[in-house]
Amino acid sequence: METKNLLSLATEFGCPLYVYDAEKIQSQYTRLTNAFSKVKSLRINYAVKALSNISVLKLLRQMNSGLDTVSIQEVQLGLIAGFAPHDIIYTPNGVSMEEIEEVAAMGVQINIDNLSILEQFGAKHPDTPVCIRINPHVMAGGNSNISVGHIDSKFGISIHQMPHLLRIVENTKMHINGIHMHTGSDILDIEVFLYAAEILFEAATHFKELEFLDFGSGFKVPYKKDDIETDVEELGKKLTRRFNEFCKKYGCELTLAFEPGKFLVSEAGYFLAKVNVVKQTTSTVFAGVDSGFNHLIRPMLYGSQHHIENISNPKGKERFYSVVGYICETDTFASNRRIAEITEGDILCFRNAGAYCFSMASNYNSRTRPAEVLWHNSKGHLIRQRETFEDIVRNQVVIDL
Ligand SMILES: *Cc1c(COP(=O)(O)O)cnc(C)c1O
Repeated sequence: METKNLLSLATEFGCPLYVYDAEKIQSQYTRLTNAFSKVKSLRINYAVKALSNISVLKLLRQMNSGLDTVSIQEVQLGLIAGFAPHDIIYTPNGVSMEEIEEVAAMGVQINIDNLSILEQFGAKHPDTPVCIRINPHVMAGGNSNISVGHIDSKFGISIHQMPHLLRIVENTKMHINGIHMHTGSDILDIEVFLYAAEILFEAATHFKELEFLDFGSGFKVPYKKDDIETDVEELGKKLTRRFNEFCKKYGCELTLAFEPGKFLVSEAGYFLAKVNVVKQTTSTVFAGVDSGFNHLIRPMLYGSQHHIENISNPKGKERFYSVVGYICETDTFASNRRIAEITEGDILCFRNAGAYCFSMASNYNSRTRPAEVLWHNSKGHLIRQRETFEDIVRNQVVIDL
């Protein structure tokens, strides 16, 4: 997106503000489907938790995407956005049997990730098709070594529990129609991902009525210039070849599914915040903005490095700044970053603010959450109003004391 458009949106809608570029979401979706164009049946299920605004979901539905959901509320948002239940997969972790049954009754594809629920669900609903989430104990992200040490992960059914799993399926006569894995968040080494895929193929041979294999997500996106990213084109080539070979051996054409969140929306997002104060101390120059980790928690939560630009003075001389929020505890967006000279009132733009930013925002410090705008067909559309103080007090019950 062009700086001048971002600036005018900040003026029109105020700060702090989330802006999403529809075209970027569309081009990422197309890039992924192109990478897997040689797969006969491909399914992209957008992971709603990354950014769950209904208008964004509608945009993805227009692209023919499905949805990956982790709560009944995400399923409900998807239905409001116009998705059919059979275009939604539900992949919860540690959720009650009641919620799983409620979602299954809606006609949504259920993905079960533990033996206890699998056994209960199979006994009660043997005719409802179920996908199984396998934990292959491979960490595709983080480093390039194959790590089987991820044995203590709470996600999925361990590949080592396959005999027990098969006993449950046999006893309940339940219908397993999909196998799923989600190995981690940042795939750097495609070979490691393919190694995990082999484990999934092996697991799949135990089930005779499969319709799809779901390889989860973990596509890494670049955060700065020359940053590494998952080579989806290379992955597309290699996984397609193995997938098509597997289908031949299996004896029928399966659907290959992915459920990317970050890959589709991260780079489409821009977070705009206004500088309230420039504070020079003996060692540091702080730029304090009208926001904090209540609106964008990723730098504090996982040390993510969002590129920050001063869009009010893009050609200014670069200086070192620590960009901090207004929350009354450590609240650092960036330390000692080179940013074009900042004066109070300038607008800073945080990049890669599409995924896990607004969706993780809170009302901490009793602050309201920002507005959201979708930039679509060269126009800014308000897709979520800025919260007001009313929203802060709405559910509070003030008692007489
Ligand atoms: C969070 C999540 C995703 C999306 O992961 P990204 O890294 O955002 O692509 C996909 N599948 C499952 C099961 C998830 O929990």
